[in-house]
Amino acid sequence: MIIQYKNIIDLSLKLHNDMAVYPGDPPINIKPLSSMPADRVNMLELNMSTHHGTHIDAPLHQVADGQSLDEFPPHNFIVGQMIKLDVAPKESGPDTNHKEGVLYLQVITAYDLAPYAERLAGAEGAVIHTGYGRVLLKNQVDEDYPCLDVSAIRMLAGFKNLKLIGIDSLSVDAMGESTIHHIWFAEPDRWLVETMVCLEQLPSDFSLCCLPLRIEHADGSPCRAVAFCD
Ligand SMILES: [Zn+2]
Repeated sequence: MIIQYKNIIDLSLKLHNDMAVYPGDPPINIKPLSSMPADRVNMLELNMSTHHGTHIDAPLHQVADGQSLDEFPPHNFIVGQMIKLDVAPKESGPDTNHKEGVLYLQVITAYDLAPYAERLAGAEGAVIHTGYGRVLLKNQVDEDYPCLDVSAIRMLAGFKNLKLIGIDSLSVDAMGESTIHHIWFAEPDRWLVETMVCLEQLPSDFSLCCLPLRIEHADGSPCRAVAFCD
């Protein structure tokens, strides 16, 4: 049972009007509900997409006849056997990039994930710690956020036991691309969590609770991603 764990780590960005969003997306807008007199009750109105902040991608996001999030039973989003794939570089090199004093790999390849192959075979899900979560927390992003290449997603998709991948970046795909999403969603019952933060706080093994809102025909949803660990 999840409640036996000692530590709970919040892996979610706080939603606010100044938060960084995917380049080109409209900003999030949270304000008092205009039709509600302010002296009666406090009630906010949210104007945001299903992919703002820490969020889940359903297959429907990229695949026309793919599953929407409301087709997944809630137990899908409570995952016992999660592992962390730590690809955050310790020092700069030819394939590293940096922003806001944060060093990260621009493109994650199968070579970077290879040390985790054995443990991936026994996991239900994996999160990829790139280090970029610290850039997200500073509300500073641009088009060169970390992403996966085809070799990396083919390796992960080859593990039929995996049902989710999470990442502390804006997308698993490079800016404006969708190939990586399509390879992952070629199998049913899979989902993604993007724009996670604080992955550096995770141990190598943990459990995850990451429930989406129950929105009809949802291609995605903001979520509160929370890790449980010893
Ligand atoms: Zn998304």
